[in-house]
Amino acid sequence: MCNITVGVAKSKGSKVCHRGLYVVAFLCPVKGCDFMEPIKVGNLTIYPIILDVNHKLKSFNSYLVEDGHTLSLIDAGINKDDYWNLFTNTLHTFGFNIRDLSDILLTHHHFDHIGLVNRITDEVSIPVYAHEKAIPRLKRDPEFMQLRIDFYKILYEEMGCGETGKKQIDYLQNAIIKHKHTAIKAEITPLDRQINCFQVIEVPGHSPDQVAFYNEEAKVWFGGDVLIDHISSNALIEPDERGERILSLIQQISSLNKCSEFPLDYVFSGHGAVIDNHKRLINTRLNNVEIKATRLLTLIKNGASTANDIAQQYYQKIYETQFPLVMSEIIGHLDFLEVNRKVRTEKVNGVWRYYSYE
Ligand SMILES: [Zn+2]
Repeated sequence: MCNITVGVAKSKGSKVCHRGLYVVAFLCPVKGCDFMEPIKVGNLTIYPIILDVNHKLKSFNSYLVEDGHTLSLIDAGINKDDYWNLFTNTLHTFGFNIRDLSDILLTHHHFDHIGLVNRITDEVSIPVYAHEKAIPRLKRDPEFMQLRIDFYKILYEEMGCGETGKKQIDYLQNAIIKHKHTAIKAEITPLDRQINCFQVIEVPGHSPDQVAFYNEEAKVWFGGDVLIDHISSNALIEPDERGERILSLIQQISSLNKCSEFPLDYVFSGHGAVIDNHKRLINTRLNNVEIKATRLLTLIKNGASTANDIAQQYYQKIYETQFPLVMSEIIGHLDFLEVNRKVRTEKVNGVWRYYSYE
């Protein structure tokens, strides 16, 4: 039996990992304390910082990890007082001070993984590590941000998105100014192949800069959003540094296959529960890609031909409310069909049309 115990703040008694009998929520025995018991695996002690939320992500997770030499923060949650309080209280509950932190390791650049970086580095000067592709995104480099918007403008036009696409471009353009202050102020050091006791594994797909931190002895992997227990991770459509479209879902599939090859006991994710059977979950995720792609193929056979038509028919109401996510899903699965030679494409009046080979 494994001695791992995990708990979730503010959800006393709940099971964190529904599949593993031995991974059970276990709150700190200190009276009135809502923090998690540390998890000991191999040479690591892990202090989860998990804020439950009432939407589909379930929680925002980051992890303090001690390996006998360093105390690293893997990901930094969201920039909210609740999260900051949870972070500082977790430090204090287990006898640490913010000055004990050695560094911050980021799995990827998304806002819900970097929230506390500026607050922490305002107090202590410690290195912040991320994939080199994360740097222009974390710094919100104006040139890169504009290249990204220009990329989406052309993408949405070419996918036939019309007014909804234009609205999203206006939103992105305003967001450049509105979110300027969220740029990471500290210097960011590009990750090498190894950091502290972790191998750095590139697993792009959900985002181009996504990495996992793998500890061989403990057989654990901190993977951000590569693999999430309760939902499939969206392979978001993004441009590369030159503004070319990345085949995100194709990348995500190879990253999941890569993850599957690692002998892992536990995957610590950016959201939701600890995963104790990653191979089975990856199989499910990969099967689901095939199932969704087959459904899209049926829509194409029935006459839907642009990514936008397919998105509207497949997602209906959600198309309007979650437009960029929906388009990523659809375009990704269309790429999957194209790579597997199930559909062919043709540009008609500047818009890509998808046709079944059958
Ligand atoms: Zn993410």
